[in-house]
Amino acid sequence: MNYFPKFSKKLKETVRVEHQKGVIKLSVELFSWLMTNELMKHLDRPGWKHESVFSLFVRLGEEVAELWEAIETHQPKEVIEKEAADVANFAMMIADVYREKSG
Ligand SMILES: [Mg+2]
Repeated sequence: MNYFPKFSKKLKETVRVEHQKGVIKLSVELFSWLMTNELMKHLDRPGWKHESVFSLFVRLGEEVAELWEAIETHQPKEVIEKEAADVANFAMMIADVYREKSG
């Protein structure tokens, strides 16, 4: 059944694109919540604003290794999600330090 035969291809593509936008927004929003949740566990720490990019990059590598170990050892999905959020948080910190650099 085709209610809009003349525009059906264009309409289908529009619906597909809009659906994909929704998937992206929801996934990023959920992941952002996970990232925030992980950072909020460490409010006792001084933060990353004065960390060197090198030290943050080293920590990023350690978190990537933790994520891979969790995947490889078939940890529960909550553990995988947490480790993925750790990776993203260190990448975010590197971007944040660069954003605040002058010049
Ligand atoms: Mg970790």
